[in-house]
Amino acid sequence: ADPVPSDIAIAQAQASALKPIAQLGAELNLAPRELEPHGRHAAKVTLDVLHRLGGMRNGHYVVVTGISPTPLGEGKSTVTVGLAQALYAHLGRAAFACVRQPSQGPTFGIKGGAAGGGYSQVAPMTAMNLHLTGDIHAISAANNLVAAAVDARRFHEATQTDAQLMARLCPPKRGVRRFAAPMLRRLQRLGIGKARPEDLDADEVARFVRLDIDPERIVWRRVLDTNDRFLREITIGEAATERGMSRRTGFDIAVASEIMAVLALTTSLADMRERLARMVVAMSRAGEPITCDDIGVTGALTVLMKDALSPTLMQTLEGSPVFVHAGPFANIAHGNSSIVADKIALKLVGVPAEPGFVVTEAGFGADIGFEKFVNIKCRASGLVPDVAVIVATVRALKMHGGGPDVVPGKPLADEYTRENLALLERGFANLRRHIENVNKMGLAAIVAINAFATDTQPELDLVRTLARNAGAYDAIPTQLWAKGGAGAVELAQAVARCCSNKAESGAEGFRFLYDDSLSIKEKIETIAKQVYRAASVSYSEEAERKIEQFTASGWSSMPICMAKTQYSFSADPALKGAPEGFDLPIRDIRASLGAGFIFPLCGAMQTLPGLPTRPCFYDIDIDEESGDIVGLF
Ligand code: ADP
Repeated sequence: ADPVPSDIAIAQAQASALKPIAQLGAELNLAPRELEPHGRHAAKVTLDVLHRLGGMRNGHYVVVTGISPTPLGEGKSTVTVGLAQALYAHLGRAAFACVRQPSQGPTFGIKGGAAGGGYSQVAPMTAMNLHLTGDIHAISAANNLVAAAVDARRFHEATQTDAQLMARLCPPKRGVRRFAAPMLRRLQRLGIGKARPEDLDADEVARFVRLDIDPERIVWRRVLDTNDRFLREITIGEAATERGMSRRTGFDIAVASEIMAVLALTTSLADMRERLARMVVAMSRAGEPITCDDIGVTGALTVLMKDALSPTLMQTLEGSPVFVHAGPFANIAHGNSSIVADKIALKLVGVPAEPGFVVTEAGFGADIGFEKFVNIKCRASGLVPDVAVIVATVRALKMHGGGPDVVPGKPLADEYTRENLALLERGFANLRRHIENVNKMGLAAIVAINAFATDTQPELDLVRTLARNAGAYDAIPTQLWAKGGAGAVELAQAVARCCSNKAESGAEGFRFLYDDSLSIKEKIETIAKQVYRAASVSYSEEAERKIEQFTASGWSSMPICMAKTQYSFSADPALKGAPEGFDLPIRDIRASLGAGFIFPLCGAMQTLPGLPTRPCFYDIDIDEESGDIVGLF
């Protein structure tokens, strides 16, 4: 029998030991006005901390990534949390974990919660896995306000004359007609230097009131935080009231909204507002980009997102601080915890005489989450990581070596529960490539082998030897799932040693993979060939056309955020291990001007997951006596 209770049983057993959030805030020397409690165990921490501590030095910056995921689960969140616990409770150093807020898509769908697991968890995990402080709801509300605004504007322009539109856009208020602030900005962009509605001539009125949205080129989609596959492609506007103006569109999962990327990459309220304003929602019939500011929604979006801008403070099961902020899905989004959370945490742990650590999570394998961490997130933040931790498991490596697929409802195959060094060595090719890629970006790689009860000592030793030979700083077995921080002391020591002695680590020094100034295709090909090891990249006609348009619009200097399956270096999820010589097909490409990246979609990648036959929600319930939630992993 498994001696370690379920994640939720452990969480509930420890619930009474959790610190009140105000106590944690006091331990971090947060001023009362910097802490906005939401219930007893979570609080928003305002960006005022950055102003107060702006001049202080930062702590060490550690990024956790992984091998290519398999259905067996690798434990990146578990390691992120457990490593912070080990640094804090067992090495006595200041340590923050920065993790992403779980999406309810996976929570109720296939994967379950994302608060870590075993004795390495963010607590309370039920709050973390459900609504928490509502950031994802705020993102959905903001995203869908934009969608509603775009279609409503198109409708009103189609059904009214210029004069009617003008009268409604600028109604008299106490006898005076005036332009709202976003309208003045739009006039400026149009080069119409007039301050009063009555000063515009007929031609200027027409240019001002008609965004002339091309219904075929509305790029803004609706979002929701549910794996509802039937919303991937829909027809909207079918009621008689919409006068036949129906069109095809679709939903994405909320965390893939550009607004989530804006939240994750922004650095201040002012910067967030500017990014939200810049988001492109559609093209006009004349081929001009139409932004959120053109439809007048910038201020409202900023208001909806104002509280979400502050990261949420929680704690680990061992009482160390955690920031939960921004969202997962490094496959179809950039999938990293937020820049503001990392920045605040780096200041809060930088204060003691001996600098502490921020352990931040970059989703999925190092080919996507870590690549985006370096080339998108660090480019935007200016922060430089000290070391990367790559999470691997013996079981997952065996699957990369050709081990059988997991069959739902059947016990795990012998390959995964008995020693098999040959299979493990074959699958090591996947980890080797991730180590090489981390080294390519100039960072030392420490492999955290997340040990399972069935792993044998020779298997753990083999991964350790192979990883060291492949260029890893070290590879260290950890038992943080079964033992919490106590199971990762050696890992924590290696991380600390590597951070304080970079010269000895052999790392060449952090660098971006590509230069901003390369063309869109050159950047895509650099990632495809150097990180994924594709032989070629092919583009659909649609992608070719859009790349030309983006380049002509002057958008080509942004970094690239690839939407690619997490299961393979290639675009084919079935190609496990370390495939080579494949073609990377770019099906479509989007431009996220607010987030600040170009977003190519590789292969058949879906932007809204579906539910399996047997979703996690079957197990989720509430005990009416105690009020305890059950079945949330
Ligand atoms: P990832 O972040 O890579 O998706 P998680 O950290 O969320 O993975 O872990 C996924 C699941 O696997 C969790 O339910 C966790 O409890 C479980 N798990 C993680 N590590 C171990 C381990 N060493 N032994 C058994 N179960 C584990």
